[in-house]
Amino acid sequence: MSIKTENPRTGCLYVVATPIGNLEDISARALRTLREVELILAEDTRVSARLLAHYGIATPLHSFHDYNERAAAAGWLARLRDGARIALISDAGTPLINDPGFLLVREALARGIRVMAVPGPSAVIAALSVAGVPVDRFAYEGFLPAAGGPRQARLRALAGEPRTMIFLEAPHRLRATLADMRDVFGAARRMTLARELTKKHETLLHGTIAEVQARLEADPKQNLGEMVLCVEGAPGEKIERERAVAMAHTLAKYLPPGQAAAAASALTGVPRRELYAQFTKARRDESNDEMS
Ligand code: SAM
Repeated sequence: MSIKTENPRTGCLYVVATPIGNLEDISARALRTLREVELILAEDTRVSARLLAHYGIATPLHSFHDYNERAAAAGWLARLRDGARIALISDAGTPLINDPGFLLVREALARGIRVMAVPGPSAVIAALSVAGVPVDRFAYEGFLPAAGGPRQARLRALAGEPRTMIFLEAPHRLRATLADMRDVFGAARRMTLARELTKKHETLLHGTIAEVQARLEADPKQNLGEMVLCVEGAPGEKIERERAVAMAHTLAKYLPPGQAAAAASALTGVPRRELYAQFTKARRDESNDEMS
């Protein structure tokens, strides 16, 4: 691995966090940076124009989103190499966290261009800070796959995860995702649904997965808006069992199901019959899902 040192003649790429709802949630340094740079790269210039107008900032905005990131990066990197100071922002929150910018940052660093964080809001950290779940260690999982089969498979791979897990979810998939989480993690696993943080309809629903589901059924408005799901990790005694099921799944890619269950049982000590039953249930669910 080569260590790149900064070239003092280059400009600087500022990665600037912006509000996730409440426009007051922006730092003095972020505002100064956005005012002073030559140009701002924004995910959706219409969204960011509202923020800039609110603060009377007239810096030119250029579009920079997932579809043009690769093509556009070369031009911006050349400007940075020639000494330009450029800010990168997304529609809301911290750039790169499920938002565009990774390629630009990586390539800037590879070219010895200075990259500076101007930190601030992120829905992920805001949710964790109020969720009332353990936060000393956590696993950020972003969005789960949209289709049922891959989503369930991803959740199964996380069934033994001992750290708190953070997911982003779209409102129209919330019910299906919670139903899958209940199947895989169990109805009693504790979680928090953090919705519309910093906005007018901000709510936090704490409880077991089953309790949160019941609250959503009782009040359909709670299914709307932007949301982050914080799910507690697997309790200690469940972890081995869930790891064993995941192991049986992996082994079944190479062995017949009975042998996969036997091998996972020998490696973990979890009874073979129990593994076989859970593992075949998961397979049945998957094939039902493919047929529906
Ligand atoms: N980079 C952003 C950040 O750091 O917050 C996240 C971008 S991601 C594309 C957008 C997702 O973040 C939304 O679909 C939602 O899951 C979550 N999100 C954004 N704003 C939120 C808010 N005010 N309350 C709850 N979740 C929010």
